[in-house]
Amino acid sequence: MTNIKIKPWISSLPEYIPGGTIEEIKEKYNLKEVYKLASNENIYGPSPKIIEYFKNGFSDIKYYPDSYCRQLRKKLSRKLGVSGDSIIFGNGTDQIIEMVCDAILCKNSNVIVPDPTFLTYEKSALKNEAEVIKVPLKNFRQDIKSIIKSINKDTAVIFLTSPHNPTGTIITKEEIECALENIRKDILVVLDEAYIEFVPEKYKVDSLKYLKQYDNLLIMRTFSKIYGIAGLRIGYGIGSSEVISNITKLMQPFVVNSIAQVAAILSLEDDDNISRNVDTIIKEREIFSRRLKQEGIQFVESYSNFILIKAGGRSTKIIEELMKKGFMVRGGEFLGFPGYIRVSISLPEINKMFTELFINLYREYNS
Ligand SMILES: *Cc1c(COP(=O)(O)O)cnc(C)c1O
Repeated sequence: MTNIKIKPWISSLPEYIPGGTIEEIKEKYNLKEVYKLASNENIYGPSPKIIEYFKNGFSDIKYYPDSYCRQLRKKLSRKLGVSGDSIIFGNGTDQIIEMVCDAILCKNSNVIVPDPTFLTYEKSALKNEAEVIKVPLKNFRQDIKSIIKSINKDTAVIFLTSPHNPTGTIITKEEIECALENIRKDILVVLDEAYIEFVPEKYKVDSLKYLKQYDNLLIMRTFSKIYGIAGLRIGYGIGSSEVISNITKLMQPFVVNSIAQVAAILSLEDDDNISRNVDTIIKEREIFSRRLKQEGIQFVESYSNFILIKAGGRSTKIIEELMKKGFMVRGGEFLGFPGYIRVSISLPEINKMFTELFINLYREYNS
């Protein structure tokens, strides 16, 4: 037992278990192909323009990256119609969540999170010794009324996610407006929109427009999902320039590497590729859902690029069997939904193979 004075909150955290890798599963089960459907990445990958660009090498990596991401900032601010100083970039959205918590939370404050939700929120709050108030989902959806009711004088940050991970449900326009109207202006409302691109147009909420009226709103987005560059680690937040500039002061200077900056710029220049991928994923999600419905298998109607499916009491066994066949999915017990699995939507032929295999296993282990 070490005598090093590790902070008590860290000691009480569960052991960090890194997710499995494709190589590891290939080796373990002697497989040629492994399909990673466990982390909601975009299996279509990034814009081909990125691959093409980097074929010529990485000549600029001898220099530190531009710590202010100027070129990318300019491009993104134009695209979103927001001022450059209202954007913060990070080494993934994960890091921005952490910086937000570092900048705002302390021992006497609390954050409100839906339960279950994306774990980074809670961990970043605990790091700052803040209390975490968990508001249960209702019917797999974030319960805005209960969240508002849970606010007390020490509440400093509220995390909302739309589409929500791991359920894939969204917060409606009315609910977002209700939240913004009823939450005190000294509480930061973080709206995590990591999966916003997968929401069909008619359900999409133009959240950016609320920034003009609510300086306590911070919207987060990422290049890890639809843009297909999860491995490069880059995400961003959009909020009031005053809040952003204060959080930026905390930042290490070179968190966004130069390759990620170039790849993000090229991604933003390839709208055609993005919308093609979005269309296919939405169509595939419908096919997938319809097939599950036909079989009478319960799942949560998703607005994202993954589906949470009820696999039953022997879900761990089903997950193992899927893995043996080369399909990696996320077990619900890690996500607050024991008995469920979360599956990313992939390419049509992989989705088809997966659905049929899963349906067979479902029948076998639920009979
Ligand atoms: C994937 C995901 C993110 C993005 O994380 P990065 O650090 O940008 O890769 C953020 N929020 C949620 C809810 C996610 O599922």
